[in-house]
Amino acid sequence: ATGTAHARERPGPGERPAAEPAPYEAKVQALLGRMTVEEKLGQLQQLAWTGDTGPGGGQTAEAEKAARQGRLGSVLNIYGAKNTNTLQRMAVEESRLGIPLVFGLDVIHGMWTTFPIPLAQAASFDPAVAARDAEVSAKEARSNGVHWAFSPMMDVTHEPRWGRISEGSGEDPHLTAAIAAAKTRGYQGEDLAAKDRLAACAKHFVAYGGAEGGRDYNTVDVSEARLRNLYLGPFLAAVDAGVATVMASFNTISGVPAHGNRHTLTDILKDEWEFGGVVVSDYNGIQEMTVHGFAADHADAGRQALNAGVDMEMASTTLADHGKRLLRSGAITTARLDDAVARILRLKFRLGLFEHPYVDEDAAIEEPTKASRAAARETAGRTMVLLKNTPAGKGKGPLLPLSASASSIAVVGPFADSTDLRGSWAGPWADAFPPVTVLDAVKDAAPKARVAHAPGVDPAGKDTGGIAKAAAVARAAEVAVVVVGEASALSGEAAVRSDISLPGQQEKLIAAIADTGTPFVVVQVSGRPLTMGGWLDSAPAVLQAWHPGIEGGNAIADVLFGTVNPGGKLPVSFPRSAGQIPIYYNHENTGRPYDPDNKYTSKYLDLADGPQFAFGHGLSYTTFDIGEPKLSVSRIAADALRKGDTVEVAVTVRNTGKREGDEVVQVYLRDPVASLVQPVRRLCGFRRVTLGAGKSTTVRFRLGAEDLGFWTHDRDGTFTVEKGEIQIYAGNSSRARSERTLTIT
Ligand code: BGC
Repeated sequence: ATGTAHARERPGPGERPAAEPAPYEAKVQALLGRMTVEEKLGQLQQLAWTGDTGPGGGQTAEAEKAARQGRLGSVLNIYGAKNTNTLQRMAVEESRLGIPLVFGLDVIHGMWTTFPIPLAQAASFDPAVAARDAEVSAKEARSNGVHWAFSPMMDVTHEPRWGRISEGSGEDPHLTAAIAAAKTRGYQGEDLAAKDRLAACAKHFVAYGGAEGGRDYNTVDVSEARLRNLYLGPFLAAVDAGVATVMASFNTISGVPAHGNRHTLTDILKDEWEFGGVVVSDYNGIQEMTVHGFAADHADAGRQALNAGVDMEMASTTLADHGKRLLRSGAITTARLDDAVARILRLKFRLGLFEHPYVDEDAAIEEPTKASRAAARETAGRTMVLLKNTPAGKGKGPLLPLSASASSIAVVGPFADSTDLRGSWAGPWADAFPPVTVLDAVKDAAPKARVAHAPGVDPAGKDTGGIAKAAAVARAAEVAVVVVGEASALSGEAAVRSDISLPGQQEKLIAAIADTGTPFVVVQVSGRPLTMGGWLDSAPAVLQAWHPGIEGGNAIADVLFGTVNPGGKLPVSFPRSAGQIPIYYNHENTGRPYDPDNKYTSKYLDLADGPQFAFGHGLSYTTFDIGEPKLSVSRIAADALRKGDTVEVAVTVRNTGKREGDEVVQVYLRDPVASLVQPVRRLCGFRRVTLGAGKSTTVRFRLGAEDLGFWTHDRDGTFTVEKGEIQIYAGNSSRARSERTLTIT
């Protein structure tokens, strides 16, 4: 589409009706009026509790002292009803004004009950699954005195080498936004003061996933259009869902560190989006602006961060140390300081901390429950992606599901009898609750089978000595389950890999199993897409299980034996080789030329075209037929769209196989001619449905201006819906073929 019809889709600052002041606003203002400068600067400070291993280490002694003096706003990495109550008492009962502390923790995918990693949750294409994780986690954490989760992480990325891909929702902004909003609601519920809710934190603001080469903390040089169209959308969705806090990111954004970036933190987040919550720095992120070479010294870093829009300082103490002097010199203003303090006080009022600063030590949940384990198992089942399922011999059906009445099953590989299934950012607190292993779960699921095990190789070691034994075990069995992958420590923060194939000697192990002639399925546990090399052709079936959490083994066995029919889809493209990165489905076109089959036309001479597995791909034990997208109208006026009209897209999906299963109906669109080159396609709707054999249903999506338009390069934020044609596709992966055209007049 080309043309002129520009629209700002959200009302700008001052265009929205002013919200009623909250009931506690008078108290916030009264408190502010009584606070000294030191006490105000103190509210801005968040210190780290013992046990923290990050730069700077634990700050326990400082935290206790500052709490008593009323010079502390928050503590991170603290939990436990007794622990938190003890520290809270120092602030509430010993400091002059008795302002309670707010306690934050990296509850990323569970507290005691470790759910699958966030990337896996995105693979469920089921926001309800993510919301439930957040709800269970909130209940466990809040009862232990935690008020605030540093989650959800919503950094869209094209970089599977980046370890933090495991913490987000992959490469697509629409999917990421849906999960981010769901998770925000799951943590926060209706009322932050409730005993089972947490304040959420949208992180990392912003464009952290764009780090060059996937190297953590790295440079991001991004156009305004890409910033808005790719990275900002999920944050806007979280803000619209009422997220209480936002965390700044470690990267630079076109030369300006995110912590000192007024354009993103204030112009966009606080002014344009009217975000009224707290912006917290990342760990030492303010002080590190001196390392970036953007701030002259710590005082200068504090000045820049506060002026850019950061409200609370995590770990480093630039504002607590230098704020007074900065105020005196006019480098920061009382108005801005008061604004930051007021935001922090409001958060504490919203959390009900002034009325109920302590938690009930007898009511603390201190271990996973039957119900939370059941939730984790169900969630993990929904996150599994069946990548490949072919017959293991002539005249046979697909290898999976396995028969529970098999006489003998070999369970081999370094992750077969491993509890390293929790993934990155499963807190050390949960070490006491190790995941169920695949080996134990297979024994449970097939009680009559002889189940034999040999690891074959270490997860990342050089030794090949154990391969022969694993092969012998496989040779003697009717079928083999080969559990391979990468350790949890290989993904997450600062866990970057240049080669994303199976570490160590695992490919050799698979080759040896293939040589035995025993039919085998490869189960891959990982925190990122892995490249598969030649072994993929030799394996009849491959299940991508991610890091599936506390019930991981059971959930894998549920899928292997067909108690659960897999329905997850890839939230990120799986490259053939690390040399292809970045490779993502919603790329722009080149001028030479667009291939209607959505093939990647900028080929590598030494590699087949396209990714190994496309975004949205995932198989089932049944089959589905997805019909053409039907549009409620074939033409619609841009003006009408801007006023809120929508187009309905109806897609009929039929289960054409013999058993019940889940399919994710996916709708993509392409704007073939626009004033900015557009992605060859982008996801604009998805819905996971469960259908019995032979059953069908019609899924309906509404596309509005938000879906059909795009952000321009304008730094003030101009969203445009242009006239012309939009192609709309429906299918069950980003390779969706059936197409209709909508004309915008
Ligand atoms: C990470 C954040 C995390 C914080 C607190 C930082 O290193 O980037 O995601 O919330 O530490 O642990």
